[in-house]
Amino acid sequence: MARYRDANCKLCRREGEKLFLKGSRCYGEKCAFDRRAYSPGEHGRATRRKGSEYALRLREKQKVRRIYGILERQFRNYFHRAEKEKGITGENLLRMLECRLDNIVYRLGFAPSRKASRQLVLHRHFLVNDHVVNIPSFLLKPGNIISVKEKSKNLDLIHQALREGRAGDLPYLRLDKAHLQGELLEYPKRIDIPLLVQEQLVVELYSK
Ligand code: SF4
Repeated sequence: MARYRDANCKLCRREGEKLFLKGSRCYGEKCAFDRRAYSPGEHGRATRRKGSEYALRLREKQKVRRIYGILERQFRNYFHRAEKEKGITGENLLRMLECRLDNIVYRLGFAPSRKASRQLVLHRHFLVNDHVVNIPSFLLKPGNIISVKEKSKNLDLIHQALREGRAGDLPYLRLDKAHLQGELLEYPKRIDIPLLVQEQLVVELYSK
């Protein structure tokens, strides 16, 4: 499975804003973006942020893709699926991304970042409706129960992430901290997804 293997902080610097890809480090003084808020590379300081309309749309798409940690081909597939569904394509796209298992594990607060969450899922630490699921892109449906596997309930990473509690309450999720369990209550509405992106620009980019 292909994955982005370079430094995550470069992605924030490239997009010109904090994408919060590294958990607690993003909130401390070690954040690379806070120290060097310009594009990476030799000519980073000279890179112009504003460009053509195409560049604007492209950057917005890259931002969404990088926040959720998805490679181009898979992201485009999500877009085509979103396009075929009823409703507003941009909102369908975000809803789908939001319902990925790795994202929901992160949103519930079981992992400090989506990247860490992806690792936890791949290493078979989570159950969906009592069955082990080790596919980060697994799409959850309302009513699905996500729980930490019995043998993994002592994992420090999970408890520390829960203690830091950066996930926040979301109306489409229910968290039962005591039992290390959560539920997707309903498909997320756009207004409830805490994401400062203009998904319409992504739709415009792919619709050209
Ligand atoms: Fe981005 Fe986090 Fe790295 Fe800061 S520490 S640059 S927010 S990934």
